[in-house]
Amino acid sequence: KTKNKILEIKDLYVNYGAIKAIKGIDINVNKGEIVTLIGANGAGKTTTLDTIVSLVKAKSGVIKLGEEEITNVPSDKIIQKGIALSPEGRRIFSNLTVYENLLMGAYTRTDQEEIKKDFEWVYSLFPRLKERRKQKGGTLSGGEQQMLAIARALMSRPKILMLDEPSLGLAPLLVKEVFEIIKKINSEGTTVLLVEQNAKAALDVADYAYVLETGIITMEGPANEIANNPDVRAAYLGG
Ligand code: ATP
Repeated sequence: KTKNKILEIKDLYVNYGAIKAIKGIDINVNKGEIVTLIGANGAGKTTTLDTIVSLVKAKSGVIKLGEEEITNVPSDKIIQKGIALSPEGRRIFSNLTVYENLLMGAYTRTDQEEIKKDFEWVYSLFPRLKERRKQKGGTLSGGEQQMLAIARALMSRPKILMLDEPSLGLAPLLVKEVFEIIKKINSEGTTVLLVEQNAKAALDVADYAYVLETGIITMEGPANEIANNPDVRAAYLGG
């Protein structure tokens, strides 16, 4: 497989006031891969994703999409350039219908015909959302809201889909379903950056993995190697 770097993070630092959340991390994502960032609660996983899309400002360091530097570029511009975030805790619009939620995901686009095609694409990935397209987001089950958050992110037709804890709070059967869909989205050409506390599920689906501990990358490698590492097994995979 030829490696073609699509996202590059170099020596990134992020602070919240006096709290040093990210302390000099390097991350590379190659085109077509699923890359996962695993680590305990508070390690800085969400902060990393939020910084990539400028919801949080980088203190120093460089973030590049292909050859272009995107550090601290406004979020809507970054979405237009091809990065989408499905945020933790789903954060869908409860009072908007499923259809309207999806439309919000396409808000930076003007290509009406292509948007129509992408509705068909996400409805084919998530048939339940099609059935419920007229229902208010708030009436969906937890699993369906998670699907909606992912589908909404896809409506910007990203080159890179970033998923923050897509399995959080889901029953095991739904976790399996969400990960199957992530695999399918990836196999259809979207590069994926996946943040998870469910390290087992994430390492099962990923090509490459980074372990983040209190703002520092402590380990990285092919996902199967990370999954077999004794330290990772002890700390994140229940021994
Ligand atoms: P979680 O799975 O709980 O989201 P995480 O690995 O994503 O964990 P972050 O949410 O990125 O970790 O948090 C990293 C550190 O930054 C933590 O110490 C956290 O308390 C702190 N932090 C996160 N958001 C803020 C904020 N808005 N203000 C101050 N500190 C914050």
